[in-house]
Amino acid sequence: MDKEQRLKLAVQKSGRLTDPSLDLLQRCGLKLSRGKDQLMGFGENMPLDILFVRDDDIPDLVQEDVCDLGLVGLNVLEERRLELAARGAQARFEVLRKLDFGRCRLSLAVPEGMSFEGVGSLRGKRIATTYPFMLERFLREADIKAEIVTLSGAVEIAPRLGRADLVCDLVSTGSTLQANHLREALTILESHAVLIRTPVALAPVKSEWVERLLMRIDGVEQVKESKYIMLHAPRAALPQIRKLLPGSESPTIIPLEGSPERVVIHAVCRENVFWETLESLKKAGATAILVLPVEKMLA
Ligand code: ATP
Ligand code: ZN
Repeated sequence: MDKEQRLKLAVQKSGRLTDPSLDLLQRCGLKLSRGKDQLMGFGENMPLDILFVRDDDIPDLVQEDVCDLGLVGLNVLEERRLELAARGAQARFEVLRKLDFGRCRLSLAVPEGMSFEGVGSLRGKRIATTYPFMLERFLREADIKAEIVTLSGAVEIAPRLGRADLVCDLVSTGSTLQANHLREALTILESHAVLIRTPVALAPVKSEWVERLLMRIDGVEQVKESKYIMLHAPRAALPQIRKLLPGSESPTIIPLEGSPERVVIHAVCRENVFWETLESLKKAGATAILVLPVEKMLA
């Protein structure tokens, strides 16, 4: 197919976002063949190709229309947005979807011995970070004067090296902080991966595929926690049982052949079904309870 008719999507080449990004695309039905140089991936069953790059390059690749789409952390995107603004330029990438991976937060963390009693404790301190623009905005809005020490990595060891008093860094579980004797004090940004698109208008074929991809992404995100549940129940217990089914809208109720007092209930639950729920259903008179994973859903 004509190159102009194929979507180009930027994905992190190797890092925390790589596997979940490829996993999402695979769930959306994409079959990928990797190029020899491993820099590109080619969609075999969709007009969509992947460019593997450093995550920091993704906002610009999309903004400059080298790629039509990109999967990147909100943290990277926001930092770039503020950096452009500081230079009097405007970010032009558009966020299409918030995604359910790459969760982390940009937080201030202080050495274990240091006391922290709110933002006032930051006054006059040296703060090491790889996110100077977001930290600058935070300090400005909080009306705090502090010194920002911009590093390109290994932020968490800066206090021990005497280069800073505290840090502003990405945290997910907190184990890296703990290993470096730091304590999370305050969150500046809650982050997750996002799908972004170019500001430039797309050819109709490409546009159509973006819409299809979005619909599939929504389907994938919806089914993640969803379960299909089937059970037998006394007709009289229906109201109670419906209340017990987590996040289900209108279950299908089928009469049970030969027993007028009992029915079969089929329902899609949009939340996970836990053992506790099954136990409550059983108490309410349900039998033959079966819970199945949902693979695909299209509303
Ligand atoms: P690259 O070589 O592509 O520049 P990197 O070292 O900047 O890689 P990773 O550490 O792989 O990037 O993180 C990529 C993204 O994953 C982050 O920008 C963030 O959105 C997300 N992320 C999730 N949890 C964490 C975490 N605990 N620490 C850092 N990033 C995290
Ligand atoms: Zn990076």
